Amino acid sequence: MSSPSLRDLHAMAHAVSIPMATPFRGITTREALIFDAPDGPAEWSPFLDYGDDEAATWLSSAIEQGFHQDHIPPTDPGTIAVNGTVPAIDAASVPAFLASLGSPSCVKVKVGGPGATRATDVARVRAVRDTLGATGRIRIDANGSWTLDEAEHAIREMEPLDLDYVEQPVESVADMAVLRRRMAELGIGIAADESIRRSSDITTVLEAGACDVVVLKVQPLGGIEKCLSVAQHARDAGCDVVVSSALETSVGLHYGGRLHQILSANQPHSLAAGLGTGSFLEGDVVKNPLRAFAGSLQLSPVELDPELLQRYSMTEERRDWWLGRMERCLEFV
Ligand SMILES: [Mg+2]
Repeated sequence: MSSPSLRDLHAMAHAVSIPMATPFRGITTREALIFDAPDGPAEWSPFLDYGDDEAATWLSSAIEQGFHQDHIPPTDPGTIAVNGTVPAIDAASVPAFLASLGSPSCVKVKVGGPGATRATDVARVRAVRDTLGATGRIRIDANGSWTLDEAEHAIREMEPLDLDYVEQPVESVADMAVLRRRMAELGIGIAADESIRRSSDITTVLEAGACDVVVLKVQPLGGIEKCLSVAQHARDAGCDVVVSSALETSVGLHYGGRLHQILSANQPHSLAAGLGTGSFLEGDVVKNPLRAFAGSLQLSPVELDPELLQRYSMTEERRDWWLGRMERCLEFV
């Protein structure tokens, strides 16, 4: 199908608002437009504080997902490897928390941020290592919250805990590059996440030598086709890639899972994806929610559930806001 008109999108849109089970970076409710589109369900859920030009890139992804599947390499339903995510909890709570996730072998640990200290961060990561044992894989994510010095001190202290990589330790690309050079002797990689908010950022990040791993998120980068081109760029520069979510419902997570499958074809050692975030939401919009357990995520085709779309439907006022936002963003697509 050719690109949808505003009228098409209006007719297919379900506006939903789902409480977060785990509030994340100040977000307590996740709002999204879910399109019941010809090529399958599609999600548009740019964060509320994003401007129209950025939100328009997310809309390109939703349009690709719902209307241009003929451009995307086909994938089969299957299971993919995902990391478990440990939020900023006490070290003492870590063993029970990991058990509740089915004891995944690869874990992302959140560090830094409001109220964090180096001691509590290190204790949490140490508790994860103790629980996983020597063969488990650990990556940490500071969401850009550390200063250069804080990052260096924290990473050096955690070095004996055998980290695979540190995701966005500091905010700026220049600091990422400096830190990466300092960390090279430790053999700990640096991953760029928030540094790549749009596909064109990849050039700046690679030219600065700022990372070893590039985090790919389908919606923010504008769809699978765009992500494949960013991934090619990253791999040509010697970087690895990892697919992660933007806190989506199962509709968005499924699309991220497909990107992971395409990128992993013929790459048996690809990094576990950060797509086990469905349980951060209190509910979902499909009959078969994508929920990770024991480090794996089953990618069955998603089917919208009318009852859930109704249960989580937005107020009329919020729905009008989203439809107005969509109308403005469609101009940029
Ligand atoms: Mg991250």
